[in-house]
Amino acid sequence: MAKQFDVAVIGAGAAGMMCAAAAGQRGRKVVLIDHASKLAEKIRISGGGRCNFTNINAGPANFLSENPHFAKSALSRYTPQDFLTLVRKYRIAYHEKHRGQLFCDDSAEQIIEMLKAECAAGDVHWRMPAKVETLDQTDTGFLLHTDSGDIEAANVVIATGGLSIPKIGATDFGYRIAKQFGLQMVEPRPALVPLTFDEAQWQPFVPLAGISLEVDVTTGTLKGRKATGARFREDLLFTHRGLSGPAILQISSFWQPGEPITIDLLPEMDVAQALIEGKGTQKKQLGNVIAQWLPARLAEGLLTAHGFAHDARLADLPDAQLRKLGQALNAWTITPNGSEGYRKAEVTRGGVDTKELSQQTMMANKVPGLYFIGETVDVTGWLGGYNFQWAWASGMAAGLAI
Ligand code: FAD
Repeated sequence: MAKQFDVAVIGAGAAGMMCAAAAGQRGRKVVLIDHASKLAEKIRISGGGRCNFTNINAGPANFLSENPHFAKSALSRYTPQDFLTLVRKYRIAYHEKHRGQLFCDDSAEQIIEMLKAECAAGDVHWRMPAKVETLDQTDTGFLLHTDSGDIEAANVVIATGGLSIPKIGATDFGYRIAKQFGLQMVEPRPALVPLTFDEAQWQPFVPLAGISLEVDVTTGTLKGRKATGARFREDLLFTHRGLSGPAILQISSFWQPGEPITIDLLPEMDVAQALIEGKGTQKKQLGNVIAQWLPARLAEGLLTAHGFAHDARLADLPDAQLRKLGQALNAWTITPNGSEGYRKAEVTRGGVDTKELSQQTMMANKVPGLYFIGETVDVTGWLGGYNFQWAWASGMAAGLAI
């Protein structure tokens, strides 16, 4: 005979555990199901093993969605301060690293243990590892056919996340269920992901692999003109295949295939103006002038890549050439040919269309009792603790509503 529950949560990651704990602590009989053999791998590997569990400045403006208003309700009802209260209750030491990003001092394991304890406080039942083979609607709710027996549940919460990092258990289960119940999707694609370039185009920059510096990056234009796209000031990292680092991960979520990105490698100065003004006084070689402002290896590599002789004397170069170099350093415009894909993406953009869900409860408008939370939904945070905050907030919204 099928086991009966008020709530079956599929996916015991960040959002799923939060939701199960909240519903369980409200007296609902909850079962939490996951196909992985190891619990919450994404939390474990997050933030370099220290879990950037929230961002104290998180607000709706830090999220991408076809409907930017959708996330407001859940985010305002479960805030970073609410999650911090929980973290403090479990005496987990934490610190702020950069722009409101909060990390555990010791280990991401502490967040997993905290969520497990919260589930235990709600008397949550576990089915793990267990594979949900089919999910069907019945007169009283749903019937889940799993490889470890059938489950009947009045409500089902889909918390199976996105497609990023398939090797630790990511699947398209949530999207398949959405389609099964006739819900619209926003096309998923990798986000917070390194960008790649055509091999021949990238060849001159390969020697720069490993160099990192703070830049301005935008999907629009920079300097003097208003940026037409998103804009971030963060660290950029040159790699053998392209560009990475927080600046690129951030902009990748906004980048559309075929579009260029523009990078200002020296956002605090107008390079063309400084070079032209320096002509009279600077007797130095161009390479040495640029190396005053950028790491020497980068200065040399960029001059070569952009076709400038390292040993040319600044005073001998026409202004038009110096303006061209200024443009290359202040507004380096380059078109990625793609990204490193789901293998390296921290998150998946897109997912279940928010038009299909209630922003108060996360329940599907046309399928009473079926909820979608976390990364499965078309709400994607910036880099910096925002994605976990969405997982906690959307999990809590559903957990309190069921
Ligand atoms: P997940 O946490 O991915 O959980 C989904 C769960 O569903 C998993 O346990 C999975 O095993 C299970 N599942 C999947 N398919 C099935 C199925 N068919 N049947 C049963 N179970 C299934 N965000 C931050 O805010 N801060 C960070 O520091 C951070 N670091 C990151 C580092 C890396 C390397 C990566 C990849 C992501 C990082 N993120 C970070 C993003 C963050 O991990 C996710 O946004 C968040 O985990 C999403 O929560 P979720 O509960 O929706 O999905």
